Amino acid sequence: MPKCMICGKELKVLTRHIMLEHGVSKRKYHAKFPGADIVEPEFAERARRNRENHPEVVELLTELGKVRNKKDTTEITKIERGYHGD
Ligand SMILES: [Zn+2]
Repeated sequence: MPKCMICGKELKVLTRHIMLEHGVSKRKYHAKFPGADIVEPEFAERARRNRENHPEVVELLTELGKVRNKKDTTEITKIERGYHGD
């Protein structure tokens, strides 16, 4: 599981954590810690297969920048408005 290089916390997805807790974007995080894992590979793979019924997965894909389809983006926006995670 990816581990936050700033505080040591382990999470499946660090994107939101580093942004909220440390104010660091994914790009800045990677610049500071080259090669550091930010998403559990297995989780990302599962996410790609099952996104329809899993808001948290859609959120992950959004964060990863994998969803570029316009319809998908609309769906994600709807989900994000009603979903605040954690
Ligand atoms: Zn942290």
